[in-house]
Amino acid sequence: MSLLRLAIQKSGRLTDASRALISECGIELEQAGAKLRAPAFNFPLEVLFLRDDDAPGYCGDGVVDAAIVGRNVLMERGADAKVIRELGFGRCRLSIAVPKGFSYSSVASLNGLNIATSYPRILGEFLQRVGVRASIHEISGSVEVAPSLGLGEAICDLVSSGSTLLGNGLVEVETVMQSQAVLICNQALTAEKQAILDRLVFRIDAVLRARKTKYITLNAPDEAIPEIVRLLPGLKSPSVLPLAMPGWSSLHTVVGEDDFWGLIERLRAVGAEGILVLPIEKVIQ
Ligand code: ATP
Ligand code: ZN
Repeated sequence: MSLLRLAIQKSGRLTDASRALISECGIELEQAGAKLRAPAFNFPLEVLFLRDDDAPGYCGDGVVDAAIVGRNVLMERGADAKVIRELGFGRCRLSIAVPKGFSYSSVASLNGLNIATSYPRILGEFLQRVGVRASIHEISGSVEVAPSLGLGEAICDLVSSGSTLLGNGLVEVETVMQSQAVLICNQALTAEKQAILDRLVFRIDAVLRARKTKYITLNAPDEAIPEIVRLLPGLKSPSVLPLAMPGWSSLHTVVGEDDFWGLIERLRAVGAEGILVLPIEKVIQ
């Protein structure tokens, strides 16, 4: 019987969220921790714990069938793998930053500089696209300290909040790419492995949809119901149930996370009371 081999990061920023996603898909791994691989008890899957840098190449070559990696690493490695889903975690951006005192007006200010980065390929493509001639100095870690060590006048590195840059006296001036964790797969899976991957992706979709939605229930006077229904799209349309108190109904529906608080305010304004908000575990469509 065939097994799908999925690579996740061994230890780093994507590890916990990758494990949580697998677990929320109802898949239990045999052991956590130090080993290279962990078969699943209850799904034809084997998880391999690798450095993120190795995952795209292994996936392209078929050493593993699928992997969870940052889009930034996939692009930098240039591996021949297919992106199946954006996973909504590991969000960051690859940005160019310069020391605080640097007078920066536009991307042309980068001409002639020495830029330190661990992402020479993505940076090189960006500089070419915007028509800047600068030299790229590849370093493997702690890029943010490079300018203070004299290893370049600017850097190109991953940023999420920007506090690390500020702490090192750097200012972000250009976004080179946006990134988040993605599920990738080998381009030539066997039909059996593809079928397992499809089952996995079906579960991942249910988990990701659920993360973006909440279940809400509220009470309202009957005359407010049409206006409330107008505010609530739901998966189809909301359920409306009569309450024991004459002239009042209870309404149940699913709402998205976007502008959630704005929606709650509008519902209250048109007469909704006793609003309950519940997390959703899975949304199957
Ligand atoms: P490995 O040991 O696997 O090579 P690493 O040190 O290269 O690990 P991490 O720092 O754990 O990698 O980052 C893994 C991924 O997390 C990054 O490639 C990126 O996609 C994502 N990420 C999200 N936010 C950030 C951030 N602020 N800085 C760096 N990476 C981030
Ligand atoms: Zn790495």
